[in-house]
Amino acid sequence: MNNTDLILRNVRMNDELHHLIIDQRKGIITAIQSAQGEAGGMSQGGEIDCGGLLYLPAMTDKHVHLDKHFLGEPWRPLQPFVTLPGQLAFEKEMLSYLPTAPVERARRLIELLLRQGTTSIRTHVDVDPELGLQHLEGLLEAKDEYKDVMDIEIVAFPQQGLLRSASVSVMREAMAAGADYVGGVDPAGLDGRVDASLETMFELASEFGAGVDLHLHDPGQLGLYTIDRFTELASDAGLGGRAAVSHAYCLGQVGEAEFGRTAERLQRSGVAIITSVPIDRPMPRVTGLLDAGVEVFVGCDNILDAWSPFGNGDLLARGSRLAEKEGWIIDGDLLRAFPLIGGAPLVPKAGDPASFQLVRAMNPMHAIAAAPGKEAVYSRGKLVGGRMYEAQHLQTSDSYQAVQS
Ligand SMILES: [Zn+2]
Repeated sequence: MNNTDLILRNVRMNDELHHLIIDQRKGIITAIQSAQGEAGGMSQGGEIDCGGLLYLPAMTDKHVHLDKHFLGEPWRPLQPFVTLPGQLAFEKEMLSYLPTAPVERARRLIELLLRQGTTSIRTHVDVDPELGLQHLEGLLEAKDEYKDVMDIEIVAFPQQGLLRSASVSVMREAMAAGADYVGGVDPAGLDGRVDASLETMFELASEFGAGVDLHLHDPGQLGLYTIDRFTELASDAGLGGRAAVSHAYCLGQVGEAEFGRTAERLQRSGVAIITSVPIDRPMPRVTGLLDAGVEVFVGCDNILDAWSPFGNGDLLARGSRLAEKEGWIIDGDLLRAFPLIGGAPLVPKAGDPASFQLVRAMNPMHAIAAAPGKEAVYSRGKLVGGRMYEAQHLQTSDSYQAVQS
């Protein structure tokens, strides 16, 4: 142990208490010791008695929009969703009124997500001929600013429709400027040309060696056809593992047999499904997808924006909602939620990044069921969220015995 290491005493893992030794400079866990033994004495890096708080890995939110929420702005009343084009115009108008620069908007949501235990995200960012790369440039700046604590993948997202808004050339500029994924939305509902829209996405992806992540709200058979074609193109492009369909409500709307066939195609092509676990409409059958071997991820998606006033960035709560919706009540099922909200193991080993959260729960099953608030969030050894962070920064709480910090 270095004398600058941080010692977190009495952290619960595997139903036992352990001491976590953290090299804050390297941002890694250097040792995990049973709380029965000694943690090698005092360290100038500080010690915190965690009193049996449960260790959980930090989370990965696979679908957020850093550029278009209203966090930190005055309350903005929404209007009912009538048609998608109407909603797109409404959103554009609302965003045009926002006084805050995209980089500042990105900072606000990144800060919220860190507080909530998320240290890795995939964000979509609007691009269109009118907007150009304004939002993307702000996000790239924020990505660099937060690179020590938040991993950020950026999807260039033609929200107004890739073909509908003639966004192919601005998408090309976005990919050249540093976006990691080619986005798209409703190849039928918005672009009116499923094959041409998808083929254009995959052409852009191959031109830039990028992944693909499609927003798909198109329903029923239309949605299913779109996914099937998407899986063919992903296979042809060898993009298994780097291609995803977000939302895919149709996978909760069609019959079992059709669902099963498409699930098999998804599995074969390595195309993932990303869901925000909506409760106001059918959503993909997640249990069926997992049983078929399809990769599934969860994201918060809209948080206080023109689409929805709901959401607080708490991905553990979103995982809890998923478990409840899917009827996962036995231990083995409750544990199925964790890989969908963050890939790291529930028990770390020495050398792992010190990116984790501490919560008040008996075990991981209880944590998914109860979705407790975060007591502490560490990202690569830095305290970035939770009540412990608030106590240090606001200095209004003495509920944690920080011996030294
Ligand atoms: Zn979205």
